[in-house]
Amino acid sequence: MSKEYLWLPFTQMKDYEQDPLIIKEGEGVKLTDIYGKEYYDGYSSLWVNVHGHKKQEIDQAIKDQLDSIAHSTLLGASNVPATLLAEKLIALSPTNLKRVFYSDSGAEAIEIALKMAFQYWYNQGNGKKTKFVTFTNGYHGDTVGAISVGAVDLFHKIYNPLMFNSLKVPFPDAYRHPSGNGGEAMKDSLQALRDTFENHHKEIAGLIMESKIQGAGGMKIMPEGFYKEVERLCREYNVLLIVDEVATGFGRTGKMFAVEHENIKPDIMTVAKGITGGYLPIAATLTTEKVHQAFYDDYTKLKTLFHGHSYTGNQLGCAAALANLELFEKENIVDSVRKKAEVLSETLQPIEQLPHTGDVRQLGFMVGIELVKDKQTKESFPFEDRIAYQTTLTMRKNGMLSRPLGDTLIFMPPLCASEQEVKEMTAIIHQSIEETIFNKSEMS
Ligand SMILES: *Cc1c(COP(=O)(O)O)cnc(C)c1O
Repeated sequence: MSKEYLWLPFTQMKDYEQDPLIIKEGEGVKLTDIYGKEYYDGYSSLWVNVHGHKKQEIDQAIKDQLDSIAHSTLLGASNVPATLLAEKLIALSPTNLKRVFYSDSGAEAIEIALKMAFQYWYNQGNGKKTKFVTFTNGYHGDTVGAISVGAVDLFHKIYNPLMFNSLKVPFPDAYRHPSGNGGEAMKDSLQALRDTFENHHKEIAGLIMESKIQGAGGMKIMPEGFYKEVERLCREYNVLLIVDEVATGFGRTGKMFAVEHENIKPDIMTVAKGITGGYLPIAATLTTEKVHQAFYDDYTKLKTLFHGHSYTGNQLGCAAALANLELFEKENIVDSVRKKAEVLSETLQPIEQLPHTGDVRQLGFMVGIELVKDKQTKESFPFEDRIAYQTTLTMRKNGMLSRPLGDTLIFMPPLCASEQEVKEMTAIIHQSIEETIFNKSEMS
């Protein structure tokens, strides 16, 4: 039936049909399919899971909330858990952020951020600042606004005729820069950004960027100091800084939010994925009181942010998020991720030594392992080989699920994964890379 009725996201159904996977249960860091085979959840159910599956405290919070109400609208009204969660988010996020605008997915949080930034200027009588700056290889979700500020060619190129134009600046990619050097990549990138601002700042509403690390672009980490300098240039040229913490927020990088790595104070910040511990779809766009004040006036002035979704602020989701954040305190999650990330880093070293591992990139519990045909020249495998995809199929056979990004294997364990579990998962990755590449060379 899954082959007959479903059309899965980001999936070539011809691939899926070969060997369909249907998950039935989850517990801790493991998932079980309908045939009873167990897998490590090596991608945190697409980067969302925090405390594992069937976490008692979150389960209970949702059950308790059901005894009051499942959902009422946030349009023109509030509810109890959405209010409590907003207070909590403001307390955890950078001190300049004061307002929470809810939605249901990361992409929606981005759409809201873009409309908010555009209208911030418009409401003040500046109709010229309408453009956005973004970094090459950036990813902000799949809706049309979000892809317009996205720049992963594989996902985005096809839809070009549908998109609005954004100004693209090269991301400082240390591994792929001709110099192979982060410092040089950063210098080029900052120069390009300065030029873009210098030539266009009067038309630029905001700059949007992922926070400290590009996720879907293949786990690319910014060289130290880059983030801070981008922030400084935004201030200098009067451009709103929009930071996308959808993937990085809630402990993933070893800080509660990745802005903390360089003490960044964004004007607008988006959060989603880990916010409910991976349970329910809640997202939020956080901003400053200054931005909010540009919308605050008599209704007839038409300064309202005309945006909302049916299920925004859903009580079950907000209750799950509150329970999730309580667990962060109670179980000291952020510190534990930082410690376990060191162990993870050690266990990745043998993988780094493999003949076809080009680059291993890690920030906290976000890992990308880029496979290359030639380690010296960094030449990629042929596109048709789908080398990372094939490796994830081997991983699946060996008891772990993940999804690759291009030729980069992704490892994003739930934050609760113990040192032992992390070691077992990296062992599966190691073995699967060797098996896949060995079989391939046997065949050819
Ligand atoms: C996943 C992701 C999004 C989109 O979030 P969805 O909930 O999948 O819409 C946006 N930005 C970043 C950085 C992401 O990783």
